[in-house]
Amino acid sequence: MRNNAGDEIARRLAAAGKEISIYVHLPFCAGKCPYCSFVSMVPKYGEIEEYCKLLRSEIRFFGDRLAGTRLSAKTLYFGGGTPTLLPPAEWRRLLDCIRENIALAEQIEISVEANPESLTEEHVRLWREETVARISIGVQSLSDGELRWLGRLHDAARARAALSMCVGYGFSVSADLMFGLAGQSIRSFSSSVKEALSLGVEHLSLYQLAIDEKSRWFVTPPEGRSDGYPFYRWSQWYLPRKGFVQYEISSFALPGKECRHNSSYWRNDPVLALGASAWGYAEGVRYCNERTLESYGKTVRRSGHAVAEMETHDTAKRAREAAILLLRTSCGILFEPFSSRYGEDALSAILRILEENAPSDCFVRNAFSLALSPKGMRVANALWSLIV
Ligand code: SF4
Repeated sequence: MRNNAGDEIARRLAAAGKEISIYVHLPFCAGKCPYCSFVSMVPKYGEIEEYCKLLRSEIRFFGDRLAGTRLSAKTLYFGGGTPTLLPPAEWRRLLDCIRENIALAEQIEISVEANPESLTEEHVRLWREETVARISIGVQSLSDGELRWLGRLHDAARARAALSMCVGYGFSVSADLMFGLAGQSIRSFSSSVKEALSLGVEHLSLYQLAIDEKSRWFVTPPEGRSDGYPFYRWSQWYLPRKGFVQYEISSFALPGKECRHNSSYWRNDPVLALGASAWGYAEGVRYCNERTLESYGKTVRRSGHAVAEMETHDTAKRAREAAILLLRTSCGILFEPFSSRYGEDALSAILRILEENAPSDCFVRNAFSLALSPKGMRVANALWSLIV
């Protein structure tokens, strides 16, 4: 990638308007889960400190280039990996560096991901002081047997303690839960969901177990996985009765507790990506940083940034991608803003494909928008494959 790719991304972000989102990737985990191929590794001695140093250089690179623009960050999200492997002192340095170099909007939403086995009260106290609003905890299940089967490093008691502590400190807490596990029944899944709600969780991200290519289980798949459809259907039935709104395919929240950062991705708003393998978006360009720790370190030391790949597509392709992202959300495609961004022709072509090839009860349509119905969300992959 050209040395000046970082300058181009900064220029595009500055041209994109007044507000951006920032995603920071923290690629360390205490062990590797057998189904996962995310970019994450078990850190060697000193690696976390060195990585954080590089991140701070990358932040300063973009801070210098965005200085003088009226741009501010409306959301800041730390994802992983397991961000709670960073000791509190590194968190402090990282957050200070961001505040010193990039303007943050007054109403900024700061979110962090955490795993129960490495989350400490020190983390939580520091995040409170640093005005973090949301903590998303990788609970996965509140059944010890299911957690063991998944190869997770925490047990249910530790997950409960993490949820209670974060709720007790006043954060808006989200729990990731998984379905489709071996031996899992609706009863065991629903008791994880119900218990999470009773502990004060305001947001749930529900995922079917997916075995990534390149993961350990991809080579030797485990036996006994269950079909995810009934679990998803149960969630769509149960959670609205508890006041939760399904605002995206995998995401349910109490009103006002939706994740604004993730919503920026689904709307194709500008995102500055920091850290190894982080993805960003800037005025029609989707880009990715160097993926390995080694190449990330080499590129940041040489060029100040780590932009490795930039994809630019013609308007029709961008429109199709945007439609798929928007159809993940309950708002769906709003006709007016969509056609002014991508053109009337692109909108008409997408609507025609969907209307001619998919059952009408998969959609909720009115004069202004088209969104997936609960049934449409259950078969979303098949619908998207029509548009790609
Ligand atoms: S699933 Fe999460 S905790 Fe497990 S290896 Fe992947 S990123 Fe790490």
